[in-house]
Amino acid sequence: MQYRIDPKSGNRISALGLGCMRIPGFALGKPDARAAASIISAAVETGINYLDTAYLYPGNEAVVGATLEKLSMRDRVFLATKLPHASCKRADDFDRFFDEQLRRLRTDHIDYYLMHNITSPGQWERVRGLGIEDWIAAQKERGRIRQIGFSFHGSAVDFPVVLDAYDWDFCQIQYNYANEHYQAGTAGLKAAAWRGMAVFIMEPLLGGRLATKLPRAAQRVFDAASHGHLTTPVAWGLSWVWNHPEVTMLLSGMTSAEQVADNARIACRALLGSMGKSELGVVQEALGHIEQANRIPCTGCSYCMPCPHGVNIPGCFAAYNASFAHSWFTGVQQYFTASAIRTGSPRLASNCVGCGACTRHCPQRIDIPERLRDVRRRLQPGPVDWVLRAMAER
Ligand code: SF4
Ligand code: SF4
Repeated sequence: MQYRIDPKSGNRISALGLGCMRIPGFALGKPDARAAASIISAAVETGINYLDTAYLYPGNEAVVGATLEKLSMRDRVFLATKLPHASCKRADDFDRFFDEQLRRLRTDHIDYYLMHNITSPGQWERVRGLGIEDWIAAQKERGRIRQIGFSFHGSAVDFPVVLDAYDWDFCQIQYNYANEHYQAGTAGLKAAAWRGMAVFIMEPLLGGRLATKLPRAAQRVFDAASHGHLTTPVAWGLSWVWNHPEVTMLLSGMTSAEQVADNARIACRALLGSMGKSELGVVQEALGHIEQANRIPCTGCSYCMPCPHGVNIPGCFAAYNASFAHSWFTGVQQYFTASAIRTGSPRLASNCVGCGACTRHCPQRIDIPERLRDVRRRLQPGPVDWVLRAMAER
């Protein structure tokens, strides 16, 4: 196994972490105990020492806790779980959730504790107002929380604001070769590392979409360039992430012992700098085909931003493209995130008044107001529009 050092704690962490959310049975809210035992034991035996779960993954903490206890493996891993901060209405909710998590996980401490899914600075400010900073300090003092961080699915604009809102030990961001300009993106990865934080990566294969169902032309590019350990889109995708020195660890939601073995084999060989100019060129070429399948040629450069009416222009276009490249639901889901719909100032395509201030800045010469109308027609049709507006008014 390849290991990397968490710059804040000095912990030696396996470059490959186990995302426990996808343990078989998760879709029914009943993770399978036998599958969990098989996956977790394969992971730990192969050298993986970081396990990630969350309060909000139904049944997951309990199964992970029971499995670690049964296999006597708790002391061999760093255990990560997450606070459902949106459900915390009063200060004593922090203890209530955390005590329940310790019980479920059958442990007396959490090595890496995260605020789950921060999408805007306002969410952190809200729990800060409830006194979470004092609560974290007290838990750290008692040794019940070792490292504190957050997982993030908001916009590139909001990410540095969240980074600077507290003295975090680590963060967890979505990152892969197709998302260099989406959410925290490459700029966010570098900004977090520059602040001396450990950076953990989720969605290194975009929920599996960079592992299977690639456009045929992209698959052909990878096949033609196959060599060494780079023989599958999974190997290319994971290796691309590991090639970044700012990355401490990436999480993979492995669903079988075989998958653990496959990914671990790649992790052993995908060392820093193991992808040179030519390999990176292959990924760019494949990405070119993936993006060609895209309907709007937006590169996410953000030169058109900020929009005076608050539209998240690259976010809207990325979601629109995803709705064709993957599925309409994926696009809508991405659109909900990119438009920060859960906040008081959503950044919807429908905010656009057609002033044209953005268009002259676009190096791709995209007719932005016109294409935003396409986005609205596809991702904000009648019923979705109604739901979005209702959410915004809440
Ligand atoms: S045309 Fe629309 S997206 Fe562009 S700056 Fe004006 S309001 Fe914003
Ligand atoms: S300037 Fe053009 S290419 Fe760049 S983010 Fe805006 S729309 Fe996309």
